[in-house]
Amino acid sequence: MLRRFFSYYRPYKHLFILDFTCAVVAGLLELGFPLAVNQVVDKLLPAGNWTWILWACVGLLAVYGLNTVLNFVVTYWGHKLGINIETDMRKKMFDHLQKLSFRFYDNNKTGQLMSRMSNDLLEIGEVAHHGPEDLFIAVMTLIGAFTLMLFINVKLALLTFLIVPFLLWIAIYFNQKMTKTFRRMMADLADINARVEDNIGGIRVVQAFANEAYEKKLFAENNGRFRLTKLLSYKIMAWNVSLSYILMRLVTVFVLICGTWFVIQNEITYGQFIAFVLLTNVFLTPIQKINTVIESYPKGIAGFKRYIEVIDTEPEVTDAPDAITVNKLAGEIRFQDVSFGYSDDEGARVLNGISLAIHAGETVAFVGPSGAGKTTICSLLPRFYDVSAGSITIDGIDIRRIQLESLRRQIGIVQQDVFLFAGTMRENIAYGKLGATEAEIWEAARRARLTAFIQSQPLGLDTIIGERGVKLSGGQKQRLAIARMFLKNPPILILDEATSALDTETEAAIQQSLAELSQGRTTLVIAHRLATIKNADRIVVVTEQGITEQGGHDELLAVGGVYSRLHQAQFRS
Ligand code: ADP
Ligand code: MG
Repeated sequence: MLRRFFSYYRPYKHLFILDFTCAVVAGLLELGFPLAVNQVVDKLLPAGNWTWILWACVGLLAVYGLNTVLNFVVTYWGHKLGINIETDMRKKMFDHLQKLSFRFYDNNKTGQLMSRMSNDLLEIGEVAHHGPEDLFIAVMTLIGAFTLMLFINVKLALLTFLIVPFLLWIAIYFNQKMTKTFRRMMADLADINARVEDNIGGIRVVQAFANEAYEKKLFAENNGRFRLTKLLSYKIMAWNVSLSYILMRLVTVFVLICGTWFVIQNEITYGQFIAFVLLTNVFLTPIQKINTVIESYPKGIAGFKRYIEVIDTEPEVTDAPDAITVNKLAGEIRFQDVSFGYSDDEGARVLNGISLAIHAGETVAFVGPSGAGKTTICSLLPRFYDVSAGSITIDGIDIRRIQLESLRRQIGIVQQDVFLFAGTMRENIAYGKLGATEAEIWEAARRARLTAFIQSQPLGLDTIIGERGVKLSGGQKQRLAIARMFLKNPPILILDEATSALDTETEAAIQQSLAELSQGRTTLVIAHRLATIKNADRIVVVTEQGITEQGGHDELLAVGGVYSRLHQAQFRS
């Protein structure tokens, strides 16, 4: 995992070396002060040479000046390194999310993924900068200070160093505990985000049901859990901070006692004694620092683990190595013994050995009870999911051999609940063909019979439609989706209950646009209202048993099966 973490430094080698070098030099320069004091007290002070003392101070000032510059570099360029890595990871995660398949999104919550993307990566950025450098400086200062202390007096230095293993043990022990707690904390925070996302996304439903109190309770539970985890982490931190503090102060007192004893015994000079005390502080500083930044290490590690989890999720539907790019398919579709289930459980399959052939340019209507698998059949075609058994071919090519992006460009889907992006009418129409010209957009709008509405808006195409198009009526949303599809202009079209949510009058009007849209394309229509599929070349009845009937309208009525019963039920009234 560590190696993987460091692989993110590769593009910023120079920045890292610069930051690292400056940080190390700055750390070592801190050792200069005790040495200077040692010299001043033992040599210059007894000699009473004022000029030399001043020169020593000038030297010290120069060292501090250099250190100031180094600190500036470390603070700015070091953080630049951190944010660069954070940005790279965020980009990589977003790119990866674009690839992940429908099943991944079936099983993950939006808010939780957002939390990984924003909060978790924030923590990694901090560690990416401070992590390696702090650790290295800590080790360097420890070694440096210890060497100098050895030079002053071997016995005293060794005695003082007896305490180090204890301090290290505390640091490691608490770090591990904290990592676990922070991981839980991030998960709790992600839960909060998921809850907020769900609530705000559905706030209209919440208020319509007047269920605010219930929602508040749910949120309070999540919020409270996060608080408890956070409190636990603070408790661990408090133990850590206090234990290390007392150990460090014990060292200081210990050095004071032993040091004075050594001075009395004439083992060391006054200057050496003072230098020794100061060096003790220098070598305790990195340990103390580890405590103050103890939050950032485990947080970064926990965040990185959560990041890796997403990055390591393989997309389920991918391009075959020898995938072929298709350009303009004719649209001849063939399902052969297709079986499919949303879970691996064979007993819970939605489709069992479906076979069906659709000619290029044909319009096929799918009817049948809700939950029979009509939508499922259609979502196999653009490979939102791959078949569990059997195969689907378009123009004789197995769709698993077609390059995914090119396959999906050949298929257009208009669904019942249209998803529109927050933005303008123009952006949403042009989504069908990025970079479409103004003329093309207006032409698509005209064919979707949207022109009058757009022109009635003061801002025209630049009208903001709100999140998911909340500022539009159901019919307008559907028209926008149709305009988008005219621009996309795919040879294969899927209309999944596209007009089911609309009133009959609007539906009739939109049917005209849809009829125009389906012209010259292979069209799969799923319809709830049978009146809307009069123009279909063929009707396929899908039930839980699979495809049970197919043929023309009159043909199926004559059979007297499921279709005729559906027909009777709808037209009796
Ligand atoms: P239809 O469109 O004919 O009404 P669907 O194809 O939507 O039916 O659904 C067929 C079955 O698959 C239903 O039992 C439904 O519960 C199930 N199903 C649909 N989508 C999913 C999904 N994303 N994950 C799990 N099960 C699903
Ligand atoms: Mg459906």
